[in-house]
Amino acid sequence: MSAPLVVVSGPSGVGKSTVVAEALRADPRLWLSVSATTRAPRPGEANGQHYFFVSDGEFDRMVDAGELLEWAEYAGHRYGTPGAEVSRQRTAGRPVILEIEVQGARQVRDAVPDAVLVFIEPPSMGVLEDRLTSRGTESDAARARRLEVARRELAEAEFFDHRVVNDDVATCARSLLALVDSSSP
Ligand code: 5GP
Repeated sequence: MSAPLVVVSGPSGVGKSTVVAEALRADPRLWLSVSATTRAPRPGEANGQHYFFVSDGEFDRMVDAGELLEWAEYAGHRYGTPGAEVSRQRTAGRPVILEIEVQGARQVRDAVPDAVLVFIEPPSMGVLEDRLTSRGTESDAARARRLEVARRELAEAEFFDHRVVNDDVATCARSLLALVDSSSP
């Protein structure tokens, strides 16, 4: 039996990446999948480490070749999970974490029935708005678009196997690790 596939999703700005980074630090067995995206790198992001930054043409090729376990369009760009490495890591016994948005999580549910879907929730909508507007890496228009998407994403919470409120990063990461452990063979 292969190691668990845990999908971590939730609205933009909820702190998914901080929680996942804390979980990875606490448990080095975990493997975080690196997604392909058509968006441009932000300052400090490295190709192959944060994302594989690809052209539209290359993304099309990956979709056509069936290389992506799931993919979705988000805020005007495409994001997808290369599937082969996910399978390799699971077979090698490493629990795999996907940190993706909700449309992708739905596709993983269909493609991988034993995947564990975790939804990270903000303590409140106000906290989420503050986090989205203080990030400071995007234009007002881009932030407004993400807030609108975040509202729609919050409505998807009930579709997930587990919901964890991120009012404290360490506590939230511990809850995530407990879910990984309880899904391990
Ligand atoms: P960002 O541009 O802020 O890095 O990511 C935007 C959103 O895309 C986030 O919610 C992030 O979790 C999601 N995302 C990142 N990689 C993937 C992926 O491979 N598939 C899907 N469906 N969403 C992704």
